[in-house]
Amino acid sequence: MIIKRNPLTWLEKLYIPALISGFKVTLSHFFRKKVTMQYPEEKWSVPEGYRGAPYLVSDHQDRTKCVSCQLCEFVCPPKAIKITPPGPEVNEERAHMEKEPKEFEINMLRCIFCGYCQEVCPEEAIFLQKDYSLTGESREEMIYDKDKLLKLGGTHDSRVKKWDKKASDAAAQVSH
Ligand code: SF4
Ligand code: SF4
Repeated sequence: MIIKRNPLTWLEKLYIPALISGFKVTLSHFFRKKVTMQYPEEKWSVPEGYRGAPYLVSDHQDRTKCVSCQLCEFVCPPKAIKITPPGPEVNEERAHMEKEPKEFEINMLRCIFCGYCQEVCPEEAIFLQKDYSLTGESREEMIYDKDKLLKLGGTHDSRVKKWDKKASDAAAQVSH
């Protein structure tokens, strides 16, 4: 069977109707509100309480609040946390901070932002913060060490003042 095709009209041969209908679609989008985000220059603003990357926080005197109890390391589902507790050596100036971790690492490539570490921490030393987009050029760069975690975590001045010398200790020192 031969299908007969209608010949193009002279207007259709000029392609003007096709061009006009194409421009109509372009113009209709031109005046619409932009929905494309210029990532990474622009980023989503996340609500309060958003659970992003976990960081260590410092107390009111810029000391890590962590006491190396390793609960977070134990509970972390993908085993992203690695804690090196302090050795037997004592820093005289900070003798009352004997449990401050020697090293504390979080492998951000493994972390799933579940929040278990924050929930289990007895010292309010680790919090999930608003960062959701972490980048690096190597795997090593994505393992955040203690200094980096503390810098990103900032200060969290809660009522837990674990490392403050107790009033009784201070009084004992005065009497000696
Ligand atoms: S948020 Fe979850 S996965 Fe990430 S370090 Fe904490 S416990 Fe581990
Ligand atoms: S961050 Fe909290 S749970 Fe983890 S070792 Fe330190 S004190 Fe323990």
